[in-house]
Amino acid sequence: MSKPSLNTQILIAAVLGIGLGLLFSGKPESSPLLAPSLYVANIIGTLFIDLLKMILIPLVFCSICVGIANLRQHQQMHRVWVTTLSFFALTMAIAVILGMSASLYFKPGAGMHITMFQSAMQGFEAKQMAMPEFFAHFLHGLFVNPFAALAQGDVLAVVIFALILGITLVVGGERYKNILSLLQETLEITMHIVGWVMRLAPFGIAALLIKLVATQDVAMLNTLAKFVVVVVGTTLMHGVVILPMLLYFVTKTSPLRFWRGAREALITAFATSSSSATLPVTMRCATQHLHVKPEIAGFVVPLGATINMDGTALYEAAAALFIANLVGIELNFTQQLVVFMTAMIAAIGAPGIPSAGMVTMVMVLQSVGLPAEAIAILLPIDRALDTLRTTVNVEGDMITSLVVQKLVK
Ligand code: ASP
Repeated sequence: MSKPSLNTQILIAAVLGIGLGLLFSGKPESSPLLAPSLYVANIIGTLFIDLLKMILIPLVFCSICVGIANLRQHQQMHRVWVTTLSFFALTMAIAVILGMSASLYFKPGAGMHITMFQSAMQGFEAKQMAMPEFFAHFLHGLFVNPFAALAQGDVLAVVIFALILGITLVVGGERYKNILSLLQETLEITMHIVGWVMRLAPFGIAALLIKLVATQDVAMLNTLAKFVVVVVGTTLMHGVVILPMLLYFVTKTSPLRFWRGAREALITAFATSSSSATLPVTMRCATQHLHVKPEIAGFVVPLGATINMDGTALYEAAAALFIANLVGIELNFTQQLVVFMTAMIAAIGAPGIPSAGMVTMVMVLQSVGLPAEAIAILLPIDRALDTLRTTVNVEGDMITSLVVQKLVK
């Protein structure tokens, strides 16, 4: 019998990981089988994420520089920019509207009272983050010494510097052709290494999922079941119905064909809960499986991994309405509009790392006067919810790259 393809191996690994995790879940931490298994799973899972992160920064840097340089040669840069940013904004807005409508209709949290969670909130102090402060902080993070940004793995600042460098390479033309070809070859090398890292993906993904499922706070998930169902339901609706429909509408690509090509990245996003760590895999799926031109994917995908987060935007808005219900505040239309806007901004500003959305959510809550400490209630279930929203975040990036490629042609 021939060996299953890597794509299939990753799927099997995910199912196995979840199955084993369920087997372990509920067992006491000290049980003789659980502790060593979790220890090993943790080491393997972390190693896999480390390998992805190792290659992430050189990949982002080179792919954006080379992408911009190649696009400018075709004089399409302006259209790519406009189409990409418009599609990012459109899909995030749809996601927020979906999350808010479902929350307003089903009212999760109504009938409960915030004092029920007093013990969870005790000792938790949310870092204050008012809107103007958040905005200033975000702007300040854009332009950073590139060497510091590269060394610290600051993805957003690397993206910005690479954009500027890419444009400079084009303006300089022939004069800088050696640097451009150096970057081009480095990009090829990084993608080659990504190919090697992916051979370990089945192990990494199984290990991450075992740990994730085995250590879930099931009691809290049950208490907040209605909220969880609303968030999961709407996130799935966005990822399984709306995004694929938009894709089909613009490009005539069937959802099944898309999912087959995108599967490696979607499962990696689910297991790592990090758009950034998944980025090397997303690039690989976009260029090699979904056949997006490298210059388009090289621009859209890294930018999307840092600013385009449909799942996060949806979650931030739904969570704000949930907390409003908990504290018994009815938000009027203007306040709902403020939630809509701030949820989008918070998602754009959230870095692609696990639970980043929880940090920027403080701003959404404060913008309408909700207590930021209430985030403590959501923290225990966040790792579980983060899986799905990160998957949809990554799906949005790949879909945008396909849409842009079609619309720009
Ligand atoms: N984990 C998400 C991501 O990496 C961000 C978040 O919503 O927490 O895309």
